Amino acid sequence: MTKFIVVTGGVLSGVGKGVTTASLGKILKEHGYKTTLIKIDPYINFDAGTLRPTEHGEVWVTDDGGEIDQDLGTYERFMDESIPKKNNLTTGQIYKAVMDKERAGFYLGQTVQFVPHIIDEIKKRLKEAACDHEIAIVEVGGTVGDYENVPFLLALKGLDREMGAQSTAYVLVTYLPIPDHIGEMKTKPTQQAIRLLGQEGILPDFIICRAKYPLDAVRRKKIEEFANISSDHVISAPDIETIYQIPLDLEREGLGVKVLAHLGLTSRKQPNLTQWQELVTAIKSPERRVTVAIVGKYLESGDFSMTDSYVSIYQALIHAGAQQNCGITINWIDAKTFETDPSKLSELAAADGVIIPGGFGTAGVEGKMKAIEYVRINKIPYLGLCYGMQLAAVEFARNVCGFSQANTTEVDKDTLHPIIDILPTQKQLLESSDYGGTMRLGSYSAVVKKESSVEHLYQGASVIKDGQTFVSERHRHRYEVNPRYVPALEDKGLSFSGYHVREDGAKLMEFLELPEHPFFIATQAHPEFKSRLGNPNPLFAGFVKACSVKR
Ligand code: GLN
Repeated sequence: MTKFIVVTGGVLSGVGKGVTTASLGKILKEHGYKTTLIKIDPYINFDAGTLRPTEHGEVWVTDDGGEIDQDLGTYERFMDESIPKKNNLTTGQIYKAVMDKERAGFYLGQTVQFVPHIIDEIKKRLKEAACDHEIAIVEVGGTVGDYENVPFLLALKGLDREMGAQSTAYVLVTYLPIPDHIGEMKTKPTQQAIRLLGQEGILPDFIICRAKYPLDAVRRKKIEEFANISSDHVISAPDIETIYQIPLDLEREGLGVKVLAHLGLTSRKQPNLTQWQELVTAIKSPERRVTVAIVGKYLESGDFSMTDSYVSIYQALIHAGAQQNCGITINWIDAKTFETDPSKLSELAAADGVIIPGGFGTAGVEGKMKAIEYVRINKIPYLGLCYGMQLAAVEFARNVCGFSQANTTEVDKDTLHPIIDILPTQKQLLESSDYGGTMRLGSYSAVVKKESSVEHLYQGASVIKDGQTFVSERHRHRYEVNPRYVPALEDKGLSFSGYHVREDGAKLMEFLELPEHPFFIATQAHPEFKSRLGNPNPLFAGFVKACSVKR
């Protein structure tokens, strides 16, 4: 039977619960246990697809087309495994399933209630996500004390009771503030989090103490006594330079063996974290550094800059850099600045490479195209991701092919030259306001052109079938390169170096490149979703390599 580890948060969200969950997963995998990670998001949205990235961070896409909270991305990056969409539970999914069953007569004659029906649906889904694994780590989003967490904690407690002793371990990730005016690390909020968890009938077995500095003996004792657990179950987790350090630190504290012992298990093999350690060293003190400009849109939220909307791109660069002993400095640039002040484009010359990430709508689009024109002409390495590919095609159509009115129909429905256009099926969905989960989502494979840069970069990561080379990446978009314009663009030197063949035989462009440029590659996909530490994505690896070449 699968054993469960429940990770909850106290005091503040955003202090590293996801990274702790991912790190623990990595450690337990290293100890020889088949482990999976599950995320509970207590919001009423069905999934993260309709959330605003500036508020909630990036929308993560799974191989099977789920649009999910970015924590699932952290899990994959640490576990080096694809995690399916069933490993994400939201309140919206639970209630919708129960309501759909009620309407279908499944509960005929019964009063449908919070207990047992909602709780049973949660338990069923947890079991489905956990099955085929020896250990399932379940991260409960938000913090204990959030009203919306109650049903999930109740369900987890219920599973624990059904499965009996040593079936479940509870981990509380808490935060210990050091207010400036006091200058002392305070344990009181942690004590309150422990009490709140107690109100749900849960006593933590392990407490991970996040703080600016390591926990001292006095505070450790206070927490140990308050929670009534042994001091070696209170784990200090101070701020560190890179999140990838955390599995190493937790393993050094012996967390893996301690959690296994709590579940009545023992280690099956000595963890081998040597390669991971080497990569962490390369991240912390690289031999050289490159600067990458990310020209995006979602960079400001109130008084704060939200780079979380691009977290996977940043991580993919770090993975590629770590492999090449190269540090990454990011220059986050709001595309709109180029619209109001084109002289700012020269900032791009100071970068070793430029990325235009995915995006939606009209804001910043003209600025992005100015940036693309600049890097194309000045031969600065360019990686375009999704919208970054579509706009590269439009820019080329306008400035090289002479279609000055070219555009994407996402920006101008009536453009004279719709270089990027919407799929007919997508048009119907938009007309009926059917927005949730209806984009082209998940993994699709592409046939890549022989001898193209894309084929070279993916060597070792591609599949050869019937003499053709296939690569597979994840997607999240509605618009496509309009096939009508492909010959005109190719005539002028843009090469579409990969396409997907749809069931009806239609060819959807997946990659483009400029053979005359040192590195100008763009893709309709989101290769950032397939990058892991120790296993970087080929496009990012090639891009970082190109950034390292002195211009
Ligand atoms: N807005 C574009 C589309 O829907 C690109 C999407 C993206 O960059 N993820 O096709």
